[in-house]
Amino acid sequence: MRVLAALCVYAALGASCGSGGGPAPVPIQPPPAVERPAFDAQRAFDDLEAQCDFGARVPGSDAHDRCLQFLLQRLTDAGARVVTQDFSSATGLSEQEHDFTNLLGLFAEDAPGEVLLLGAHWDSRARADEDPDPANRDRPVPGANDGASGVAVLLELTRAFADIPPPRPVIVALFDAEDQGGYGSSLPNSGWIIGSQRLADDWPDDLPWPDQMILVDLVGGDNEHNERVGTPPRSNDHFDLPIEGNSLENAPNLVDQVWSIAERLGHDAFERTPGRHITDDHVPFQRAGVEAIDIIEFVPPEWHTIDDTPEHCSPDSLLQVGDTLLEFIYGG
Ligand SMILES: [Zn+2]
Repeated sequence: MRVLAALCVYAALGASCGSGGGPAPVPIQPPPAVERPAFDAQRAFDDLEAQCDFGARVPGSDAHDRCLQFLLQRLTDAGARVVTQDFSSATGLSEQEHDFTNLLGLFAEDAPGEVLLLGAHWDSRARADEDPDPANRDRPVPGANDGASGVAVLLELTRAFADIPPPRPVIVALFDAEDQGGYGSSLPNSGWIIGSQRLADDWPDDLPWPDQMILVDLVGGDNEHNERVGTPPRSNDHFDLPIEGNSLENAPNLVDQVWSIAERLGHDAFERTPGRHITDDHVPFQRAGVEAIDIIEFVPPEWHTIDDTPEHCSPDSLLQVGDTLLEFIYGG
C-alpha cells in the first residue's frame, strides 16, 4: 500500500497531471548527479564487525569502554569537532548506576542551511530476552544489527564528510543507553532511549540545535532464513524498511523525501507501507520540535537474541541506507 501520494513530475513544467488533451508532457529528468562521495559498503561492514569484535557493548563492560575509545578516535580522524556528554544512570534492566557517554561530531559547521542530526545508538542490550531458548535470555545481545549497523553506516558517512564536506552542517550523534529498557520499568520511557533523552534535555551549549534528524537503527539485516530463531511474529526473512509510525506522523515530508530518493536509486528495502510506532532515539527530538524520522527494520528475526551477529547481517543493507543518506545530504 502506498501511504503517500507520488509527486507529480509534470507539475513544474506547468503541464497538467491529468490525462487531458494536448501534446504529451515531457517528463522531467532526475537532476544531474552532483559530486558526492560513494558509500563503501564493505568498509562499513568492516566497522560493523570491528564493533562486535569488542564484545557486547553493555553497560559497565570493558567492551563498552573500548568501543567508546574506538568511536571517539573515528570521529576525530574524520575531522569532526567532537563533543562528548557523560552521564550516569540506572537502566530498565539494572538498578545499579552505570557510566554512559553520548558522542557527537560536528561537520561543516560554517556551511549555510539547516542543521541535520544523524543518529544511531552504540550500546548493545544486556539481556537477550527475545531468544527462543530461555537459557540464553540472561546473556547479552551481540548487537551486530541492533547497534553496530547504524553506527557503521554513520562512520562510513563520516569518511565521506572528510573527503567532501557536506553542503550543510551535519552532526553525527552516537547515543549510549538506548537499548537497556525494561518492560514495566518505572523509569522515563521505561528505561529505553536514556541517552537520547538526556541529550535532547541537555543539549551542549557549543553545538547548534538541529532542524532535522534522521535516525538509523537495525539497518543491517540479511535475507537469509535463520533456522534457530525461525520467523517470530512481525518479522520476515528479508530486509525491509516500512515507514515507522512516529516518523510518518511527525515528519511526513521528510519521510517522503527520503523514501523518494531511495526509490529513485532502486533501493527497494524502503517500502511505502506503514510500520509500527517505535520508542527510539528520534522520539525525544520529535517531542522537542525537531522534524525527525527513524529508518528502522522492525523487527528482524534475530532481534534481542544471541544470534544478532555479523553472520546475519549484510553489506548490501548498509549500502541501501547509506547511499540514500548520501544522496539526501549531497543533492537529493
Ligand atoms: Zn534493541
